[in-house]
Amino acid sequence: MEERLENIQLFINGEFMDATTNETFENKNPFSNEVMNHIAKGDAADINKAVLAAKEAFTNGPWGQMKVKERMKYIERIADLIEEESETIARLESLDSGLPISQTRKMAARGAENFLFYSRMVQARLHGDAYQVDNEFMNYTVYQPLGVVGLITPWNAPFMLLTWKVAPALATGNTVVLKPAELSPLSANILANVIQKAELPKGVFNVVHGFGETAGEALVKHPIVKAISFTGETTTGKRIIKNSADSLKKTSMELGGKSPLIVFDDANFQQALDATVWGIFSFNGERCTANSRVFVHQAIKEPFVEALKERVQNIIVGDPKENDTELGPLIDTGHFRKVTGYIELAKEEGCDVFQGIVPKEYQAGNFVPPTLLLNAKNNMRVCQEEIFGPVMAVMEFKTEEEVVRMANDVEYGLAGYVWTNDIKRAHRVAQAIDSGMIWVNSQNVRDLRIPFGGMKASGIGREGGHFAMFEFYTEPKAIHVAIGDHPIPKFGIK
Ligand code: NAD
Repeated sequence: MEERLENIQLFINGEFMDATTNETFENKNPFSNEVMNHIAKGDAADINKAVLAAKEAFTNGPWGQMKVKERMKYIERIADLIEEESETIARLESLDSGLPISQTRKMAARGAENFLFYSRMVQARLHGDAYQVDNEFMNYTVYQPLGVVGLITPWNAPFMLLTWKVAPALATGNTVVLKPAELSPLSANILANVIQKAELPKGVFNVVHGFGETAGEALVKHPIVKAISFTGETTTGKRIIKNSADSLKKTSMELGGKSPLIVFDDANFQQALDATVWGIFSFNGERCTANSRVFVHQAIKEPFVEALKERVQNIIVGDPKENDTELGPLIDTGHFRKVTGYIELAKEEGCDVFQGIVPKEYQAGNFVPPTLLLNAKNNMRVCQEEIFGPVMAVMEFKTEEEVVRMANDVEYGLAGYVWTNDIKRAHRVAQAIDSGMIWVNSQNVRDLRIPFGGMKASGIGREGGHFAMFEFYTEPKAIHVAIGDHPIPKFGIK
């Protein structure tokens, strides 16, 4: 019998409460598929309550009028409290999502960093520009918060991804309604607890749990909400853009991926191997930037594939609570069926499927073994569609031109990875690949100042750094001031 947890409520206007309908939904543990607790099932009425509280907090509460330094004290307090709670966050996140605890520990630490980073960023960088126009005008810009912003997050790295959004949204002075993914609701309430402990003014931060089609859509359509920052599937993103059109909302879209990793024959073999394995099997393969398509140069394909097979057989698949587990269970049975369905499809499409081992005692969980789709072709569905599990297609190439063409021959454009010791080729290929982010001779590591996001079907806009601050969570206002008596056209004078 797995752990039983307390039920979870909504957090609106500074208070934890049940849904208006009193309805709840089950939250299951991906390791056992047993019910861990029940979650308040918010809908349009709860979203409306939360939006009105956030609007009141923005318009009449102290948050909007607060000095920046004072607001940042709250933001830094949140960071400190997350740090204090980090082991609880890591443990609950692992229970809720099936992610190995060694990885959720890092995600919790990153959550605290996101708040600290935006406190520093806003204090140092959130300022406008001045434009002197001869002796006639002084024009300047100020960056103002939008008001109430809606944040909608996925289940694959729940806590880290919601802090990506909540930290810049609050630090720039907005108020927030968060709709976390229904499959991983726990860590949003830890943040609500932290924010309550940090004594943020009521209504500044609100959480409404519930389903995408009800709570999510109500948030997207709410006329008071100024902007929606969304991370999730491409099809959901398209629907959100359509639904936000009537109220002319600003939207930020972080969507799916099918990212290529290219290994040239002069690459550092061991490092490229380490990065390839980690890039697909970390986060249980449920990673938007996963290198789910690997292109290996013909000259090294055989030893590289042999080395991949050896790693795949040795990956530690197991209980996410154990420190040495490298790969845990997928989020739920529905996703398990989707991923295993793709593995069956790969066989039908002509791939040789090579898999690691799931120990027998873990049959109750949503475990998919680490999987290689060997001898794949880029035009197969398994190479074109996002599988979002521990499944990597392996392909061979001969020339740079051919591999760039294949890497780009896909709907998505989120990330890409290039391994070569030829400096000119490294830059050439990095610039030729159509994706928002490219790593050269590196696994996926990201400094918080760098823009994160994709092109093509992988998204619109960027998160992180000053991009989130200036391009999304604030509105630039231009103020034009005459400093002399410049001539003004005279109409209506005889
Ligand atoms: P999803 O689109 O199913 O759900 C994401 C969120 O949207 C959930 O909170 C859900 O309740 C909500 N939602 C669903 N339908 C909605 C609607 N009609 N209106 C409003 N909200 C709605 O995505 P998921 O399965 O939770 O997450 C996995 C996906 O997220 C993958 O495609 C992955 O690549 C992507 N992802 C992208 C990034 C990135 O930065 N580009 C990062 C992480 C995950």
